[in-house]
Amino acid sequence: MNSEIIAIGSELLTPWRQDTNSLYITERLNQLGVSVAFKTIVGDRLKHLVDAVQNAIGRTDIVVIMGGLGPTEDDVTREAAAEALGIGLKRNPDLIAQLYTRAAARRMTMTRNNEKQADLLEGAVVIENPRGTAPGQWLDIVYGKHRKLLMLLPGPPSELKPMFDEGCMPLLREALPQRFIATRVLKAALIGESAADARIAPIYTQYTDVETTILAHLGDIQLNLVCGKPNLALAQARVDSLAGKIEEELEDYIYSSQGESLEQIVLYYLEMRGATLSVAESCTGGMIAERLTKISGSSRSFAGGAVVYSNELKTEFAGVDPKLIERHGAVSREVAAALAQGIRKRCHTTLGAGVTGIAGPSGGSEDKPVGLVYLGLSDGDETEVLERRFGGDRERIRHYASQTALDMVRRRLM
Ligand code: ATP
Ligand code: MG
Repeated sequence: MNSEIIAIGSELLTPWRQDTNSLYITERLNQLGVSVAFKTIVGDRLKHLVDAVQNAIGRTDIVVIMGGLGPTEDDVTREAAAEALGIGLKRNPDLIAQLYTRAAARRMTMTRNNEKQADLLEGAVVIENPRGTAPGQWLDIVYGKHRKLLMLLPGPPSELKPMFDEGCMPLLREALPQRFIATRVLKAALIGESAADARIAPIYTQYTDVETTILAHLGDIQLNLVCGKPNLALAQARVDSLAGKIEEELEDYIYSSQGESLEQIVLYYLEMRGATLSVAESCTGGMIAERLTKISGSSRSFAGGAVVYSNELKTEFAGVDPKLIERHGAVSREVAAALAQGIRKRCHTTLGAGVTGIAGPSGGSEDKPVGLVYLGLSDGDETEVLERRFGGDRERIRHYASQTALDMVRRRLM
């Protein structure tokens, strides 16, 4: 079963408003095993709406139409649906009465134009709207020999969401063959999207019954696996089997197989090993500490550290020998190592991490270009230093540096 979502409203075609309703609806439809094949955004023009509804009904089984159900002149969704489907539109007396009762209860006078909200498509079931005036409509029809389900819902998110949950979901569950959805979320750090895909595409393309999507963002890759079957154990077995094979292929790039964040995993490993961590951050300016302390319970294994942006504070807070900085420069392998060792000692932790780099856009030179970052990690016995050259703007470089530092800790503890 596939579906199309149509968001109606000329404001959604301006730079100031975005269609967010469809994200919500997509999540719900996916839970029922219905995938969204198309999303359409249309302005408040009758002709365009008719086209959009006709396209949708011609190419998908389930069509969710939202917005344009209000009382104003530009609210023409009902008319458009009637025209597109070739069915009648009738003013429903019960609904008119309800509209007047509702207005009276709020001590408002209802103008005549409000009555058009009582126009019901032939054969439609009313979906109550306790939080607004415009009721929704549900249609279960045969169109061109195929069964189609259509929903008309108001645009305001505060009305649409509860109406979809309370009104549409039960009707959809009844109308659709029962399916159980199993999902898995795998996450990988610091592998490129195309590199990851090149390795796993031959695997997941074998699993035609599992939908695999890849989301990549700043050194983090999320793989969503979704499978729908008439029985949950079957669906679960399929996603688990695929997840296992992907984990085997991507090996230690995968840091989470149940959707946890990198920060959560780092803290989890620290706790499991009874270890603690401190950080001396130069170019990341506290980003690593911020990311870890966002997680509740992080105090059990993250001690803290220092933002050591100036050379003086590298010495003062992390005990870096000024001569070392003079000889090698603040952005160097030696200083990263000294930061890690120094902060570890100063904070009495099992592990110490140090980050120093050039986030740009200024401050780069020929032998030390923008994006050059050194990351140190020390456990007292052994100090490891990574040299990285990150591309992109200041924010991206800083984020990649924090990501790499967290991943170093994870790999050390794994
Ligand atoms: P009414 O006019 O009775 O409020 P309506 O069905 O005509 O209901 P719209 O006028 O289309 O709804 O939209 C009302 C509000 O909801 C607007 O602020 C609009 O920006 C917002 N809205 C409409 N569609 C969406 C959408 N797809 N995603 C997020 N917000 C939306
Ligand atoms: Mg409107």
